[in-house]
Amino acid sequence: MTTVKNVRLFPRVPESPAVDVEISEGRFSGFSPADGSSPAPPSTLDPEGSAAAVDVIDGAGRILLPSLGDVHAHLDSNRLGQTFRPHTADGTLHGYIMNDRRNWRHGERSVGDQATYAIARIIASGGTRIRSHAQVDADCGLERFHGVKAALEAHADVLEGQIVAFPQAGIVSEKGVRELLDAALSEGADLVGGLDPLLYDRDPASHLDTVFALADRHGKGIDIHLHEAGTAGLFSLEEIAARTRAAGMAGQVTVSHAFALNTNPEPEVAGILDALAEAGVALTTVAPAKGVLPQAAIAHRRLTLGLGEDGQRDCWSPYGDGDLLRRTWQLAFTNGFRLDADIEGCLDIASRGGARVMAGARPDGSALIGDSRFGLGVGAPADFVLVDADTVTSAVMDCPPDRDVFKAGRLIASGGELIGGARLG
Ligand SMILES: [Zn+2]
Repeated sequence: MTTVKNVRLFPRVPESPAVDVEISEGRFSGFSPADGSSPAPPSTLDPEGSAAAVDVIDGAGRILLPSLGDVHAHLDSNRLGQTFRPHTADGTLHGYIMNDRRNWRHGERSVGDQATYAIARIIASGGTRIRSHAQVDADCGLERFHGVKAALEAHADVLEGQIVAFPQAGIVSEKGVRELLDAALSEGADLVGGLDPLLYDRDPASHLDTVFALADRHGKGIDIHLHEAGTAGLFSLEEIAARTRAAGMAGQVTVSHAFALNTNPEPEVAGILDALAEAGVALTTVAPAKGVLPQAAIAHRRLTLGLGEDGQRDCWSPYGDGDLLRRTWQLAFTNGFRLDADIEGCLDIASRGGARVMAGARPDGSALIGDSRFGLGVGAPADFVLVDADTVTSAVMDCPPDRDVFKAGRLIASGGELIGGARLG
């Protein structure tokens, strides 16, 4: 058993007094008012007299946050830690895709080693879960998928990882991509991806039919990049909601970005949010400068919403540093939030929201995989971060670098470093 003494729990700081938190078998087993005693010796004897290890951690009045998650990552394209590379894309979606295709092989590390580098940064920032897309196309085949898969598997003891076989250059537009996606799913991809069925692949029926057929054939989930705005995006969202309902895939389908929710009149947005909620479609956002999602309307419908970083200093963008608390700040900033409750809501999206995305939470609160008890209740997995801050809002504003990160009650990162170091390379 482990006891974490004298911490303040998200989101009830600073009103509530400090508590002591008990952890057993990797889960929270009790919360009680802090007794104010000094931490006990590192082990004691149980009532029967046998040695029962009781680790005691001095929380020192820090805030205990549920761990964070990057549920929209591209571990195969990040360039974190590499020599900075000037931006060379032309600003169009196709231009970004081809710029990455021309340059990704010239990185300073292999895909697996670069993914490993980013994973360590993400965990050290407070993340214990990552859903990463891995590009699958006629140029790279399954090479990038294999690199991301190896890196995630090497961290299976400290990280919940999911990998999306992502057709970054379309499915209809390039020959052989359907077969490559099929192969990736056979080799263990957790989800099949998609990309702008109408405006990039120009054949929404073929694109979505292929994605849903592959998911059905392999019993896997779906996560579709949808940059389409306006009526084009509304059309694609309607098609995705209808197909999700027809296939009985509530909790298994995610739409990433969903810029249509930011670029249509309010009545249309309300209507499509109702349809997505009814179908059990989840959403992810990367907190872009343009494309802020209607978070209040999403929360009102109990739609699942998670936060991701997207690219991290890659051929697409110089932004992104692997720090999920800093990305939470960006989510609050792009929304223009100032109220503590709103900023705490952003932290909730970055933590429990992402957990619900990856567990396949359904509208009734149940989950397809993993554990439906998200957060800081008794019985929930003891995945958390200790941060030295006055309040949750100040933690998001200041992003203190010195964080202790725990997975299943075990310290896995401290002071910005993953304990045990890199697993590959
Ligand atoms: Zn993306």
